[in-house]
Amino acid sequence: MTWEAVIGLETHVELQTASKMFCGCPVDFGDEPNTAVCPVCLGLPGALPVPNEQAIEGILSIGAALNCTLTESSLFYRKNYFYPDLPKNYQISQYTFPLCLGGHLDVDIDGTVTRIGITRVHMEEDTGKSTHVGRSGRIQSADHTLLDFNRSGVPLVEIVTEPDIRSADEARVYGTELQRIVRALGVSDARLEEGSMRFDSNVSIRPSGSTELGTRTEVKNVNSLRSLHRAITFEIERQIEVVESGGTVDQETRHWNEDLGTTTSMRNKEESEDYRYFQEPDLLPLHIDVSWQERVRAALPVLPAELRNRYRQAGADARTAEILVDGEGLGPLFEEAAVLGADPRAVGIWLTGEVISFTRTAETAVTTTPLTAAHLVELSEMTADGRLSATAAKEVLTAVLEGEGAPGEIADARDLIQVSDVGAIETEVDAVIAEHLDAFEKLRAGDPKTLGFLTGQVMRATGGKADPRVVQELLRRKAGG
Ligand code: ADP
Ligand code: MG
Ligand code: ZN
Repeated sequence: MTWEAVIGLETHVELQTASKMFCGCPVDFGDEPNTAVCPVCLGLPGALPVPNEQAIEGILSIGAALNCTLTESSLFYRKNYFYPDLPKNYQISQYTFPLCLGGHLDVDIDGTVTRIGITRVHMEEDTGKSTHVGRSGRIQSADHTLLDFNRSGVPLVEIVTEPDIRSADEARVYGTELQRIVRALGVSDARLEEGSMRFDSNVSIRPSGSTELGTRTEVKNVNSLRSLHRAITFEIERQIEVVESGGTVDQETRHWNEDLGTTTSMRNKEESEDYRYFQEPDLLPLHIDVSWQERVRAALPVLPAELRNRYRQAGADARTAEILVDGEGLGPLFEEAAVLGADPRAVGIWLTGEVISFTRTAETAVTTTPLTAAHLVELSEMTADGRLSATAAKEVLTAVLEGEGAPGEIADARDLIQVSDVGAIETEVDAVIAEHLDAFEKLRAGDPKTLGFLTGQVMRATGGKADPRVVQELLRRKAGG
């Protein structure tokens, strides 16, 4: 029996608005605990919520970017549960009438595109932050728990997929692409390590070929895209083992343990009845003008998938295009250099090689370095016409990044210009042949190893300045083809 995995992801994204979802407290995570709070986000009796327009605009842009239908009227609900970091004992969320419905996101794995359905995107508010003080950092063995309500009421968007994902790889690519989109929209920094983007993975298995859904578990507590992949992989294998040894999978919430690389049972899964959803009586229905939706759609930036297409059309390969999208400022530089006539392949190699390692070490973006598209064009021309070897080009590029000037100047100053003049090189080639007649005879007899040796001798004689392509061409010609 072979098994197929079925996965649906629920993603929470904290919006970086100026103020919280239903009050005027600032959204600022650097503050001292419990300083950005007020009666509304502390759930004090009588306090009334007022929706944040900037947050609604943010969720509309996410919905639009995910090809959703933006609804014209929408309701807030109370989702009731008790937990110390939820001071109202309910979370204001959405239920049957969310702001965005029915979209999709395409994931591309090595050229195979899979469309992942987006069920809904809704608006809610974040909880406070609990810190369980004790050895494990988990509630079961904590000595006590600290509560910080600065995060209470921060706008939170939840993006729910259809159970369309079939592997841990697809889940990771979906997560990566969603993170790129949210960042491109500028609505959140979407950092998994810091919790401004959080994934819950619903995982089930079924016999390959079956169209029914199996019982799912929901895995929480993944803090990176890598652990998203690890946790799903583990959970699929665990479920297969359970079923193959005659057991059944329990519907439950499981906790991913990063250090152990395993999931463990946290609690039985709540059913939605357990939350006793009812309409939030303190908030009016939201009516979103079609003209507002249209303005949001019109203001969408160029999204990562389209950028990748553009870079590929300008001559980048798939992997390079992806790196160009992810590296701040790299894509525009690539496009500009390509338009100005630089060799896109060479520019791709430089940007994803020397330039990225330089900016990583310097902890900066390429936009803050002196490197311009014109420099890349010059470098590309100097390499194409043989004035610079591939190695010398990389040295020159690093020097440009370090602010030493333009490629031509640097190559002159560092004495890196290659001799490509056939006449000058031929004199050296003839001298080397005269000195190593044995080797040359072997080359004539068809021994390819001597070509490298003789080329090396010419390079040495010219102090490394001869264009090795010209040297080899001359040697081959003289040896009779
Ligand atoms: P909740 O988690 O609040 O109960 P839903 O029932 O809407 O919400 O499902 C949440 C997520 O679980 C969705 O992403 C959905 O695609 C996914 N899902 C539902 N059933 C399964 C299943 N059998 N296997 C895997 N994922 C599932
Ligand atoms: Mg869920
Ligand atoms: Zn507040």
